[in-house]
Amino acid sequence: MPDCIFCEIVNKRMKSEMIHEAEELVAFKDINPQAPVHVLVVPRKHIDSVQDINQNDAELIGKMILVAKKIAEANNIDKDGYRLVINNGINGGQTVSHLHLHILGGRRMTWPPG
Ligand code: 5GP
Ligand code: ZN
Repeated sequence: MPDCIFCEIVNKRMKSEMIHEAEELVAFKDINPQAPVHVLVVPRKHIDSVQDINQNDAELIGKMILVAKKIAEANNIDKDGYRLVINNGINGGQTVSHLHLHILGGRRMTWPPG
């Protein structure tokens, strides 16, 4: 996908603080952290958003959440709790059109979100 910054990061053409690399997905620190722990779990395959996933992606989406759980444990936010977020489209606040799961932790989150 041309001009996709997350494709650039996945393909190592752009730098990031990578914390996990697997066959189908990677995880790296968010460049503009909104919490003491802010990690993005990103499939290597370019998918615009949740609206573009299909049945064939079910396992991949499951793996994204399972990896998020492991990253939460590795960052010691599993006991106190954390938030997983997928922003979708304009109203969802999505700014990068390559599917990603935010892991946010290390502080108390508020509800409702802004
Ligand atoms: P969204 O708003 O699409 O849900 O989330 C996009 C996230 O990607 C934002 O939290 C933003 O800070 C992060 N981000 C944008 N560009 C870069 C980048 O070049 N490197 C990293 N590590 N994160 C980025
Ligand atoms: Zn992409």
